[in-house]
Amino acid sequence: MSERSLPFSKEEIERIIEKFPTPFHIYDEKAIRENARRFKKAFEWNEGFKEYYAIKAAPNPYLMKILRKEGFGIDCSSEAELELAKRVGMRGDEIMLTSNDTPASEFKAARELGAIINLDDISHIEYLEKNVGLPETICMRYNPGDLKQGNLIIGHPEEAKYGFTHEQIIEGYRILKSKGVKNFGVHTMVASNELDPDYFIETAELLFNLIVEVYEKAGVKISFANLGGGVGIPYKPGEKAVDLEYVSAGIRKLYQEKIEGNGLAPLKIFFELGRAITGPYGYLVARVQHIKNTYKQFAGLDASMVNLMRPGMYGAYHHITVVGKESQPQTQKYDVTGSLCENNDKFAIDRMLPGVEPGDIMVIHDAGAHGHAMGFNYNGKLKSAELLLRENGEVKQIRRAETTEDYFATLDFNGLVVFKS
Ligand SMILES: *Cc1c(COP(=O)(O)O)cnc(C)c1O
Repeated sequence: MSERSLPFSKEEIERIIEKFPTPFHIYDEKAIRENARRFKKAFEWNEGFKEYYAIKAAPNPYLMKILRKEGFGIDCSSEAELELAKRVGMRGDEIMLTSNDTPASEFKAARELGAIINLDDISHIEYLEKNVGLPETICMRYNPGDLKQGNLIIGHPEEAKYGFTHEQIIEGYRILKSKGVKNFGVHTMVASNELDPDYFIETAELLFNLIVEVYEKAGVKISFANLGGGVGIPYKPGEKAVDLEYVSAGIRKLYQEKIEGNGLAPLKIFFELGRAITGPYGYLVARVQHIKNTYKQFAGLDASMVNLMRPGMYGAYHHITVVGKESQPQTQKYDVTGSLCENNDKFAIDRMLPGVEPGDIMVIHDAGAHGHAMGFNYNGKLKSAELLLRENGEVKQIRRAETTEDYFATLDFNGLVVFKS
């Protein structure tokens, strides 16, 4: 098994730990920027191409500022996420609101920022009009349902809570056109953590076919197609990253055939990837507290599910490097655990590692998306700091660790009377 590389040496991470106690998340700015540039370059043939970073993956304003400098927009699905966009200075069509079961207050916040609103249901047209008014630009989320049944890749979108049906979305464009909406978008997203590049080409084909049909049936020319998120990352050794150049070439061919071929160009291509943008470039750094030998061998860390839920929640694989022991043979089998009173608080089960001792530093890979973001305070555990490793070797704190005071901040020790009959 090939060992995965780290953006810092053992000496560097030890010096960082002297300043910032473990556990913490550290993001590699250089790698994030290079990845962003490569993605943009792959789609430079499409004028107006834009990636809206799905901020839920790592809702840190500093990371968003970096991505914004690389030309990315933001994809929000809550009021707090819209507020984050606002606080980093984002406005107008830099912001996409793709939410479902959306409250009026969220539509209102989006409208005030001039964000692109992506509607999740036909009934939301009237709801939006009544509560905040219709903007000039609207996008709608398409759920292809059983149109794609039999296609194992797409699965069963008809079970998903998201989006308009085929008939509803065509009707939606008719309604919006009659109400004076001027610019139209279409969106779909029906998979997550998908590593098959052809999946994304098929998704584009689905949307391009719909765009042609909408033009024929509703007389509406759609100006952007948002292909959503869901590009996976190779968590496990041996898995292959999605080749974005290949995806782009496949989409370009379909674009020429279906969009240009039907006189429907220009059409801007959008994505709202989260995981693939920052996931591989964030690391959870923790220290081994205890080694325990019972019926199994356990390596207990000073981190827990609070710092990274994915292994405990989905049984997800995250690669682990024991810093400084990269070249030693992996002869020992461990469950790598956290300290929650929950038996699924394990970062790895039956993982082969070199012999581990208390004090060793473990780095858990691919924690740059849905890592810190998903954490909770169960068991009174506090959320850890987020650090940024810069190209010049500088390390910035971009979120401090929570304190016990933060944990108690929302409590009313005396009880507050809020109702009396
Ligand atoms: C979660 C989400 C994304 C991003 O998904 P990734 O798997 O992180 O790429 C994009 N759009 C919507 C609407 C989402 O809910």
